[in-house]
Amino acid sequence: MVARSCSRPEPVPPASKTVAVIEGDDAAPEAMRPVVALLDELRLGVRWTYPPVGARAERETGSTFPPAAKAAIDAADTTLFGSTSGKSGAALSYLRWGKETYANVRPCRHMPGCASPLATPAGIDFVIVRENLEDLYVGVEGALRDLAPLNLIGRTTRRPVHALGEGCYAVKAITERGTERVVRFAFELARTRAQTPERAGSRQPKVTCATKHNMLPGTDGLFLGVAREVAKAYPDVEFEFFIVDDFACRMIREPQRLDVVVMPNQYGDILSDAAGGLLGSLGLAPSGCYGHDYAYFEPAHGTAPDIAGKGVINPTATLLSATMMLAHLGLAPAARRIEEAVARVYAEGANLTPDQGGTATTQAFCDAVARALG
Ligand code: ATP
Repeated sequence: MVARSCSRPEPVPPASKTVAVIEGDDAAPEAMRPVVALLDELRLGVRWTYPPVGARAERETGSTFPPAAKAAIDAADTTLFGSTSGKSGAALSYLRWGKETYANVRPCRHMPGCASPLATPAGIDFVIVRENLEDLYVGVEGALRDLAPLNLIGRTTRRPVHALGEGCYAVKAITERGTERVVRFAFELARTRAQTPERAGSRQPKVTCATKHNMLPGTDGLFLGVAREVAKAYPDVEFEFFIVDDFACRMIREPQRLDVVVMPNQYGDILSDAAGGLLGSLGLAPSGCYGHDYAYFEPAHGTAPDIAGKGVINPTATLLSATMMLAHLGLAPAARRIEEAVARVYAEGANLTPDQGGTATTQAFCDAVARALG
């Protein structure tokens, strides 16, 4: 249970923001429920709605994403999403491609007390901005033999690709428009971060771009070319770029050098999990997906099926995704208070979940955060 004050309860302010909550699959609801309970206790004027999605909706309506779910998402100011392993997938597709949430922002910030595998994790504080809609995740795959009529000759193999043998292909699609908007988002974020009180004046904002432009001059070459063009409009922001494999090594060797990193979809997906590993657990990695008209928030990790039902999933990623959401809703002071409380729980170290070397349950961790909030 969340710790309650013994004094007379304060009046609950009228709800001014509506958040659609989709708890997700496997262990994800075990993180989401105590996080929503914790936020609810703070009386922030948020109304929670639960669109009917996933297995429950399928049982009740025959669809995992019925029209009522879409309407509830559309009516909400934002959505807080647990992770999905399938049944909630249609809702996620709508939030991503339906709402064109093109920038997936994945912060990677070390908190003292986190069980990082690095000897010197102090000062890690960067953000991966992953393009969220394009690249290999457009979901066009097929049999190589179907490409025979096109007789596509590999630039490297110099042979028709269908002649490689029985197998499959996937389409990697990168567009100028899709790249430009996500790169601009990254530069704007770098500027905004540089203005925050803890960073103001400490160092020049920087955007790092990581692509495989040497092997993929068409697709990744386009991404990098657009990034270099956009960079010209931001002379106050340092710009650098690396081949993505080199970047992966640098991210592990010198993570403190990074500020904002922008990448095509698949590299961003993979390397932001690796960034979670730098901190010590996928359970620490929050994310927010932003479009022009809508944003939703979800932990970067998957549904952790191997620990489902045990009540030990680390809710930090979900909680920090929720603080990103509160900032987006104009509730930045509350978001900061919660982040400071989470940092205190890590610094104290007595209520950490097993992925962080502790023995606390998910609920015990959230209770500790509630106590730290006072
Ligand atoms: P996806 O493909 O959806 O990203 P995945 O199968 O790659 O998912 P996860 O579900 O993220 O991977 O789990 C990978 C490992 O990390 C599992 O051992 C899981 O238990 C662990 N893990 C993920 N999230 C958490 C968390 N919040 N707390 C503790 N352990 C976690």
